[in-house]
Amino acid sequence: MKVYIYTLGCKVNQYESQQMEDALNSAGFDRACKGESADVYIVNSCAVTATAVQKTRQTLSKIRRDHPEAIVCLTGCVPQAFPTCGSEGCAADIIIGNSNREKLTQYILQYAENGIPIINIEEHTKNSGLGGTVSGLGERARAYIKIEDGCNRFCSYCIIPYARGRVRSRTLQDIVSEAKALSTSYREVVLVGINLSAYGSDIGLSLLDAVREIEKIDGIDRIRLGSMEPDLLTPDVLSGLAACKKFCPQFHISLQSGCDATLKRMNRHYTSDEYYRLVCDIRDNFENPSVTTDVMCGFVGETDDEFNQSLDFVRKVGFAKTHCFIYSKRKGTKAYDMEGHVKPEVASSRMARLLEAAQECENSFFMSQIGSRAEVLVERPCEDGFVEGFSKNYTPIRIKGDYERGSIISVTITGTNGEYCTAE
Ligand code: SF4
Repeated sequence: MKVYIYTLGCKVNQYESQQMEDALNSAGFDRACKGESADVYIVNSCAVTATAVQKTRQTLSKIRRDHPEAIVCLTGCVPQAFPTCGSEGCAADIIIGNSNREKLTQYILQYAENGIPIINIEEHTKNSGLGGTVSGLGERARAYIKIEDGCNRFCSYCIIPYARGRVRSRTLQDIVSEAKALSTSYREVVLVGINLSAYGSDIGLSLLDAVREIEKIDGIDRIRLGSMEPDLLTPDVLSGLAACKKFCPQFHISLQSGCDATLKRMNRHYTSDEYYRLVCDIRDNFENPSVTTDVMCGFVGETDDEFNQSLDFVRKVGFAKTHCFIYSKRKGTKAYDMEGHVKPEVASSRMARLLEAAQECENSFFMSQIGSRAEVLVERPCEDGFVEGFSKNYTPIRIKGDYERGSIISVTITGTNGEYCTAE
């Protein structure tokens, strides 16, 4: 049978979709290419915003409409966070959460046999979602390695702890054996997790231990980290990372707001001063690092003055890239029941100003790269005989020439158009 997987959401979901694909391939299923008809469709869903859930629904109804004969499966954070979703517009033949994905192949074979719908959403356990490895990540130049799952934080706006359970970490042995297997095809690996910086907190280890172990593996030249929380990046962790030659100095550290009163209502565990000190420590410890982030506007109770504080803070830090969001009301979270939700039109006008500030900062960052040397991991060919790739601090760079995907090229950055840098 041919199978096609729709992946919504984060890098962890992308990693887990690859895991499902590998498991199905080993069971004799073939991967259907984009646009090719399949016998089985899997939607690996995301619940982080109302829009993501809406997209899950739309994807399921489109599959049902275009492929009435196919087997339709729903997995991921939507059913895990909202177990009754099956009767609320997320219709599928097989519905499982993200705690028992390893059962999907067996359920598809069972359903193909008897046509009896299956809904099985299990609670997370100590090891759920940590098993298995991936063989690679298709056409990408870098491979993701999921090392942690779950979160214990319960930020007041966030549904993820309800979808992903408590912090659980893979053993170093597991991580190293997967990284060794991937080192034959990938020179860069990205360590990902739901709350990556909490890696090891449940097994007496830390994120630094994982990076140090992968640093020893021949064939892997670059180690990158996924999104992190600020308060777990201590000075010891920073100096330890700075000593790792293969470490890529790109820090994606979620800020959410630059206003302390808003951070408090969000139940975030740091102040804007502490965040700023961390950014200064990073700039002191690493050569030409980049700091990227996520910022939300329109959070419950956010006044004009609070928003302006947040905007000023974004400009003060000068992020290399800022992912901007409007607060999304999530049923089941603390913020959902709070007083003082911001009017949509107010949130949209704040979003426009936030995007403007983000673009200004990104342009300044690109300008600051001109004249510097960089090692570019080539990702893909693009127009006019150029190839595109990323430097160690994750600056998108275009170089003229026919370089192979996955090769690393030494360059000098010569210019920028505000979207990417050019180099020789
Ligand atoms: S740290 Fe906060 S925002 Fe991040 S996953 Fe955990 S609860 Fe959600």
